Amino acid sequence: MPAYDVIVVGLGGMGSATLFHLARRGLRVLGLERFDLVHEHGSSHGLTRIIRLAYWEHPTYVALLRRSYELWRELELLAGERLLHITGSIDAGPAGGPVFEGALQSSRLHGLPHELMDGDELHRRFPGYRLPPEMRCLYQPEGGFLLPERCNVAHVEQALAKGAEVHCREAVLEWDVGSRVRVRTDRHSYEAGRLVVCAGPWTSKLIPELDSLAVPERQVLAWLQPTRPEYFLPGVFPVFNLEVEEGRYYGFPSFLIPGFKFGKYHHRGEVVDPDDARREPEPEDEELLRDFARRYFPDGAGSTLMLKSCLFTNSPDRHFVLDRHPDHPEVAIAAGFSGHGYKFCSVVGEVMADLAQAGETKHDIEFFSLRRFAATP
Ligand SMILES: Cc1cc2nc3c(=O)[nH]c(=O)nc-3n(C[C@H](O)[C@H](O)[C@H](O)COP(=O)(O)OP(=O)(O)OC[C@H]3O[C@@H](n4cnc5c(N)ncnc54)[C@H](O)[C@@H]3O)c2cc1C
Repeated sequence: MPAYDVIVVGLGGMGSATLFHLARRGLRVLGLERFDLVHEHGSSHGLTRIIRLAYWEHPTYVALLRRSYELWRELELLAGERLLHITGSIDAGPAGGPVFEGALQSSRLHGLPHELMDGDELHRRFPGYRLPPEMRCLYQPEGGFLLPERCNVAHVEQALAKGAEVHCREAVLEWDVGSRVRVRTDRHSYEAGRLVVCAGPWTSKLIPELDSLAVPERQVLAWLQPTRPEYFLPGVFPVFNLEVEEGRYYGFPSFLIPGFKFGKYHHRGEVVDPDDARREPEPEDEELLRDFARRYFPDGAGSTLMLKSCLFTNSPDRHFVLDRHPDHPEVAIAAGFSGHGYKFCSVVGEVMADLAQAGETKHDIEFFSLRRFAATP
């Protein structure tokens, strides 16, 4: 049976980064991916992903984000390719709301550069935005977007250059732990000292203990043709997180597709089975998204150019799970990224490689432990 130091299951955002960090440390690693190297069944497709520092979700993420930016820049150098585009970012919402107040708290706590403005001032600075004047807006210059498909490929490419083995179109069916970890796929069986599970929406199919802690949810993204395309270019349109009465939304300038791109967090609240999710966007999806654009980005609300579905994997508190399996310390798990994980892939790869190699990491990941759910009734 072929034997490895570490097997990584899933080569999406987190798995490709983990494979890279393990391979660069000289470990014998195998990456197994059930679909193609680039595919649209999981969570890491759709051309762009927001990255930002003043993290409204919780200030504890900021330390990981700083390292994440560093590692993305390093990957760009290795790959010889631009993967991270800086546009600035906006976190906006009503005074007292979690998005604006959370971003402000993170900025103040970590001394991050930022500017505050109301909806009118935001429109004067960035004319694509038409938020109500009473909206509180935080602009942070380091915000921007990553190119997820290219980042995943760059991580795999660099891992291959360091001797990693990669098998795509090979699904892991089961694993068990004896003196070593054994992994059975739909093609072969393998052995390794350690296993890292980065299976995104499929996590609980491989780790049933995470059934209620990593719950897949259907999302839909829209690209609309702006009627004023010059307002939606990367130089004049920062990425955004926006809390309005209809919910929370995120968006991007036109890039690669000549359309204003955006989505609604937890879109229609549809929990799905990733093997049976409706992939084709529906008229209800489109209408929900177009209503938002018409109200807050009227110059971006022209005809629909593209719609794509994608999957979130939600944890109960919407924070990540970065930990070792409670009963099998040889198995590390990266899961529950709850719709905001991509920007962290580079640093999560480093954390997972630490957990697999040494059983611990210098990064502070206590906040992301599985133990936090044990007290939940
Ligand atoms: C619409 C949308 C917009 C988002 N926007 C942002 C954003 O702007 N910024 C941000 O930071 N985050 C964003 N996110 C979240 C982010 O994209 C995810 O958190 C991240 O991609 C999760 O990566 P992952 O590696 O966990 O999952 P995936 O990238 O889905 O990788 C999991 C991989 O495991 C493979 N796999 C599963 N089971 C098996 C098996 N049994 N055998 C072999 N392979 C297997 C899958 O095929 C898949 O390739 C967004 C997500 C969505 C859906």
